[in-house]
Amino acid sequence: MAYLNDHYFKLKAGYLFPEIARRVRAFSDEHPDLGKALVRCGIGDVTEPLPAAVIEAMHRAVDELAHRETFRGYGPEQGYEFLRHAIAENDYRKLGMDIADDEIFVSDGSKCDCGNILDIFAHQNRIAVVDPVYPVYVDTNVMTGHTGPADEFGAYEGLVYLPCTKANGFVPEIPKQRVDLIYLCFPNNPTGSVATRQQLQVWVEYALDSGAIILYDAAYEAYIVDPAIPHSIYEISGARDCAIEFRSFSKNGGFTGVRCGFTVLPKSMAALTSAGEKKKLHPLWNRRFSTKFNGVSYPVQRGAEAIYSEKGRQQVRTLVSHYLGNARILAESLRSTGLEVFGGQNAPYLWVAAPSGYSSWQVFDKILRDLQVVVTPGAGFGAQGEGYFRVSAFNSRQNAQEAARRFKELRW
Ligand SMILES: *Cc1c(COP(=O)(O)O)cnc(C)c1O
Repeated sequence: MAYLNDHYFKLKAGYLFPEIARRVRAFSDEHPDLGKALVRCGIGDVTEPLPAAVIEAMHRAVDELAHRETFRGYGPEQGYEFLRHAIAENDYRKLGMDIADDEIFVSDGSKCDCGNILDIFAHQNRIAVVDPVYPVYVDTNVMTGHTGPADEFGAYEGLVYLPCTKANGFVPEIPKQRVDLIYLCFPNNPTGSVATRQQLQVWVEYALDSGAIILYDAAYEAYIVDPAIPHSIYEISGARDCAIEFRSFSKNGGFTGVRCGFTVLPKSMAALTSAGEKKKLHPLWNRRFSTKFNGVSYPVQRGAEAIYSEKGRQQVRTLVSHYLGNARILAESLRSTGLEVFGGQNAPYLWVAAPSGYSSWQVFDKILRDLQVVVTPGAGFGAQGEGYFRVSAFNSRQNAQEAARRFKELRW
């Protein structure tokens, strides 16, 4: 008989969102009249339709595929030159960062990239994740066999957890023990925090000094409105030698269902072979793409390219301001009840401290029962999330206003 991958049994089987769904269902069954009035502020998915410039570009691309003269079959695995160029030029070179077209790898989204990147790293790396954490970083390491079992709080043996707390502004400090791979995500999901240039500089210097590699998830960079906050890790000098950046069109262009993102892997980056020889990473990632991927579909890449057109940029700005407007409305109403609210200024998430004595799940249940609003309990993102809940600004304006109106009625 064949053997399976035992490591999957260590996973805390997708506990958070199924548990939320279960509690919401139970509530709706008990109160069929109230169930209809639910407002969901729990989901990390966009709600607004795609920008018109993207739709037009995708329509044109589909029409090209309908004619022999303009038909395209397999494209380059790493992405079409037109898109790699648009990305490197607009997101990096125009902003003073030295990134070449062929350092961009176009993919079907950054969740996939965050998991796939482990293919090019060895098993002996010591891995650091933030707490609270986007579960993909943790679970992909568990599946690959980089951890032991989880403890009663859901923390895996072998991972180094970097606490993100109110005291450190939800930006982790350098750990005492040596680590080799460090996952950072700014603007952060779930806390909505951002890292300053100085804070990122400290991490880059640590990585350069210790030979560690930073895996930098910038999926929410479009939400940065504060001009002092870096959008990319490559704004920090030295990062080209120690950081891989993940970006996505999901949260700026609304591509969560269309699927497109990219990694930036500078050709200068190197790591050790098990024999202790320093080798470049770029050829490995390139080879991985060629072997395990056949590229993102042509109409989708044309759609992504349109995000960089003048109209596309304008339409993305409108989308982002819509969600940030929701965040402002929700934050004001939560604050008016005396709650302490973090994030939401350069990110589409609010991270809200529960009144003392309340656990994350108790607050979740209370807000569901009293207001029929669904939030996300912070404890689902890690031990440091206990005592917090996340409110997502991804909603229609009408729903955000309705949730805000209801939050004002909160009584503890
Ligand atoms: C939404 C999100 C992404 C983007 O994932 P895609 O696969 O590109 O849709 C990446 N990282 C974080 C933390 C996210 O919340």
